[in-house]
Amino acid sequence: MRVKLVAGNWKMNGNLASNQTLLTALPPLLSGLTGMNCAICAPYPYLAQVEQTLKGTNIAWGAQDVCQYGNGAYTGGVSAAMLADFGCSYVLVGHSERRVIFGESDQLVALKFAAAQKVGLTPILCVGETLTERESGVTEQVIARQLDAVIGNSGVTALARTVIAYEPVWAIGTGKTATPDEAQAVHAFIRTRVALLDARVAAGLVIQYGGSVKASNARMLFSMPDIDGGLIGGAALIADEFAAICRAA
Ligand code: PEP
Repeated sequence: MRVKLVAGNWKMNGNLASNQTLLTALPPLLSGLTGMNCAICAPYPYLAQVEQTLKGTNIAWGAQDVCQYGNGAYTGGVSAAMLADFGCSYVLVGHSERRVIFGESDQLVALKFAAAQKVGLTPILCVGETLTERESGVTEQVIARQLDAVIGNSGVTALARTVIAYEPVWAIGTGKTATPDEAQAVHAFIRTRVALLDARVAAGLVIQYGGSVKASNARMLFSMPDIDGGLIGGAALIADEFAAICRAA
């Protein structure tokens, strides 16, 4: 039985004061919620604040990126071990903003994925096609390429300790959401592709949908058979909205 995961991606937003307001509002809104998992992925400098405020609640936390290398002479890098030190359970890898804006390749994402797993973090591997790719009919090829890079480097059994987030790039922060049927089709494609290699891993694989999820559309999306929760950007910055999305899961 898969347990749905709703994870908030704060992106590069927030400050100490606004984070504190959000972080103290969430636990009472989410207390008593069972049968689903909930997490916040915050910017690096605020991980200590997140840890201090969420420790002992039913909300886990994580980061939005990780260095592919272990500790050492990598100026500006943040290692997976450092994230673990701040109590992170999760880390996003391959978010489309990292792939598109920062030029991260499939191979680099695969190395980051492996670095996260090496210290026991659960990577949330983001995959998704651009609008041009969707319109050219290559959505499945793109997703397969992104997945295969990770499977090629870490093996299919590594997917037993991960979460996948299907995020069509054209739906991120645009207000355009994939319809539940459009999203379901890609989620089913991902699960089937993994099942060809390992049916047990595929059956247990949590596949989130991300892209303009709001309280008003979450229930429909999460009711699809292969959609196991969501990765939430903008709506994760509003406590009531994020809590309503968690309740929908
Ligand atoms: C995201 O940043 O992963 C995301 C899905 O953003 P939004 O919900 O704002 O589209």
